[in-house]
Order: sequence, then structure tokens, then C-alpha cells
Amino acid sequence: MSHNVPKLNDPSLLKTDVAYVNGAWVKAKSGKTFEVHDPSSGKLIGTAPEFDAEDTQKAIDAAAAAFLAFKTKTGRERSKLLRKWYDLMVENAEDIAKLITWENGKPLADAKGEAAYAASFFEWFSEEAPRVYGDTIPASVPGNRVVTIKEPVGVCGLITPWNFPAAMITRKIGPALAAGCTVVAKSPGETPFTSLALAELAHRAGIPKGVVNIVSALKNTAEVGELLTTSPIVKKVSFTGSTGVGKLLMKQSSPTLKKLSFELGGNAPFIVFDDADLDLAVAGAIASKFRSSGQTCVCANRLFIQAGIYDKFAQAFAAKVKDFKVGGGYTEGVTHGPVIHERAISKVEAHVRDAESKGGKVIQGGQKMPELGPNFFQPTVITGMTTEMALASEETFGPVAGLFKFSTEEEVVKIANSAEVGLAGYFFSKDIQRVFRIAEALEVGMVGVNTGLISDAAAPFGGVKESGFGREGSKYGIAEYQVIKMITYGGM
Ligand code: NAD
Repeated sequence: MSHNVPKLNDPSLLKTDVAYVNGAWVKAKSGKTFEVHDPSSGKLIGTAPEFDAEDTQKAIDAAAAAFLAFKTKTGRERSKLLRKWYDLMVENAEDIAKLITWENGKPLADAKGEAAYAASFFEWFSEEAPRVYGDTIPASVPGNRVVTIKEPVGVCGLITPWNFPAAMITRKIGPALAAGCTVVAKSPGETPFTSLALAELAHRAGIPKGVVNIVSALKNTAEVGELLTTSPIVKKVSFTGSTGVGKLLMKQSSPTLKKLSFELGGNAPFIVFDDADLDLAVAGAIASKFRSSGQTCVCANRLFIQAGIYDKFAQAFAAKVKDFKVGGGYTEGVTHGPVIHERAISKVEAHVRDAESKGGKVIQGGQKMPELGPNFFQPTVITGMTTEMALASEETFGPVAGLFKFSTEEEVVKIANSAEVGLAGYFFSKDIQRVFRIAEALEVGMVGVNTGLISDAAAPFGGVKESGFGREGSKYGIAEYQVIKMITYGGM
């Protein structure tokens, strides 16, 4: 193996000019690399290879060549490989967490949480791999027998974002391998090192060559994405990212009619009813809104607080936000890190200024923090939000909480459902009748009731409306990588 692959235990050695194709570390044919910057300091932390379509084609060919042998392994054999990869992730969790913090900026404690969450998808799907069952179906014709089997769909193209550099990729590779597929995963341009480190562990786990290929690109992202979505060899594309890019990839995939799973943007409503447990609701809002500095797709984006509890909630919530310790992810005691880059800072600032100009009142934060670095923004709380403000209809993807006041259940459900997207929704109430009424009324794929945290490898993750389709994790996750074959015998 090349000596300059990403080392798992030394962030000073992040310079690499190789990605992982066909079980080997290879350079881009052009020899080009791209720069990766620490979101906290803005400083250069390393380089990764700039793959183009020609380089990516080699990865697709390798995945195609490996497919038949991998498909015909037993579920138990594939399970053991995934389990080995899981064990290596657990053994190396500290180092994976350091890499995540280094390139994504999130505090080390959060990065450790992500490393464990990422590994849990390999554990979960190693357990699912041997339990793929078909049906025996009573036929309509005497003497006829009908059965179904589930087969892997084929070579899969996987595209993931930077906000969870490890977990987004394992959430796709785990079920793909469990089903018997082979993959070409494009690592996120902002955070390539974590995925390359996972490739190193795949190699050590003995995953057969060509089964897992990890390519990297920044400037050539669209070119690589176009190949993955148009190649007739690739049978399935799974994408996590923005709704806009999802629409483009869907269009590109249409001439070859690929199977698709899209986990796209959200604009989660977070509703607190007058009868809620105030402390629990505040804790839930803190967890849901400010985790990863507001950069998770399931982050609360619009906080709707019922009139009777609004002032008390705003006060208690802002007090908690004031206590955050913002800083670099490696600094002891830091609870919240930077956002990913300057474009993200601009959007956060634009949403705050827009809300202010339309009558919103910043009661906490509201400013950039250049003294800490280029990408820091004060965790912010705004009261007096209205539906005309940008934050009401667009995902902020940053540390800004806007509090909307509402009066009735009907009113809040109507506003919550007015979004074009529907990924996650949350509400807090002690009324059991209301719990099921609201959970059923919200147009989202996932509902958190009296909790601000909803992610679990055992639970189906995904959205409705323009948040996409398909489910990751859970017993449903593997189906995204399978096709059902019906076999009928005799009876004529
Ligand atoms: P993005 O869509 O710009 O990028 C996501 C990934 O797609 C990146 O790796 C990027 O390199 C790649 N990409 C961009 N353009 C591409 C193209 N033309 N072809 C192929 N690949 C391309 O999103 P972002 O702004 O970097 O990430 C944040 C967005 O992702 C938010 O909208 C968020 O809600 C969404 N997200 C969704 C989930 C989910 O599970 N639903 C999870 C995390 C993030």
C-alpha cells in the first residue's frame, strides 16, 4: 500500500494524492489534487486527488468486474466482512473522530458521536445481510408455484455531503454491501479524508478488490456526478445533499432509468404546545437546532411556540444558547464549532439581517465572530418571526433559531405543512390524543415527539415531498439496493 494514504492517527499527514480504486491507492491520471481547508482556521490542511470522468470510469469498471463474485457470496459471508469493517471502525474510532473534526470543524465530542453512529450502520447491516427473505405466493393457477427472491441491483453510485463525513457514507455502503452490490462512492469535496480513511479500513477488513471504490473530486464534482448518473453500468444512485442537486441528478439518471434514493434538504418544524414540559422542550430545541452548529438536514429550522408559553420558552432557550462555548473543535470545553465555509456564513448572515429588516428581534447572538476564525457565527435566537421572512421558507443550515408565535393547532399544522420539503418534524406536548393527531398530520418522513434527536441505525431515515424518497437504516434500508425477482414454475 502507498505510504502516503491518509494516516488514521496523525492529522499533520493529510497530504495524499491517491484515492481507492480496485483495491489499490491510485492517483488521478492528470496528477491534479485539490486543497482541503480547516473550517475553524481557514488554513490549508491537506490535498486530495482530483478525479475526472476517465478516472471514475476505472472505478465503475472495477465495481462491475467485482459484482458477480460478490453477489454470489452468501449473506453470511458478506455479513462477516461488514462486521470486520465495523470492528476496525470501533478500534479506530478516536482517530476517525479526529479526522472528522479536522476537516469538518465539529467539536471532538460530536465527532466521536458521529464515528460511533457511522460504525453502527455496518453493525446493523452485517446483521441484516443473512436475513434476506423472499416469499412463497399461493398461485391462481392449479399446479403453479410462485416464489420471489431478492437480488442486488448491481453497481451503485453513492454521493454524500460534508456535514457527516463518515456517517452519510456508511449509511449507504452498509446496506449496499449487505445486499450484494458493489459501489463507487464520491467523497465530499470539503471532507475527503474521512472517507479515504474508511477505505483504508475496508482494505484491512479484507473487502474484496473492486467491491468498494472511493473517488474524490472538488472542481470535477459535476463531471464525476454526471458519469455516475449516466453510465449504463451503474444501476442505482443514492444521493444525500441539497434538493437542487438532487433534481439535477434525477434528470441525468432518467435516460438510463436508474433506481434512485434521494435524501435531500429539510426545513423542519419544531412545535411547542402550551402543555409541553418546558425544560424538556428547551433541551430538545437546543439538541435539534444547534447540533453540528445547525448543519444537519434534520435540524429544527422553524420553531413554532404556542402563545401561552412563548415568552417563557424564548427566555429559557436564549439563556441556554448564551452558555454555549463556541470555538475550534479541538479546544477543550467547546460545545459548538464553525460552519463549513464562507458561503454558509453568508447565508446565515443573510437570514438574520432579512429577519431583522422585517421586524424580527435578535435576543441572542446575531453577529459573525472573526476573532475566532472566518467561519464562526454567534449562536443566534430571533423572536417575532413571520412567514414573510427567508428563514420561514429556506433551510438556513446554520446556528440561527427563529421563534414563530402561534395560537391554534390547526394554524400551526397548516404553516408547518406549507413547506415544499418534508424531512423531519418535532413537537412537544403531554396530551396523548394530540400526540397521534399531530404526528399523523405533519407532512414529513420522520417525527420526533418530546425529543429533539431522531437518528438511529435501527429506524428508517428519509423524507417526503421535495426532501426526496427512499429510506436509509432499519430493515427498509437494504431494500433500496435490491430488486425482487419472481420465479413461477409449472401449472400449464
Ligand atoms: P450539495 O447538494 O451542494 O452537495 C452534496 C454533495 O453532492 C457533495 O458531496 C457535493 O460534492 C455533491 N455534488 C454537488 N453537485 C453535484 C453534482 N452536480 N453532481 C454530483 N455531485 C454533486 O449540498 P451541500 O450544501 O453541500 O449540503 C447540504 C445539503 O444537504 C442541505 O440541503 C441538507 O439538508 C442536505 N442534507 C440532507 C441529508 C438527508 O439525509 N436528507 C443529510 C445531510 C445533508
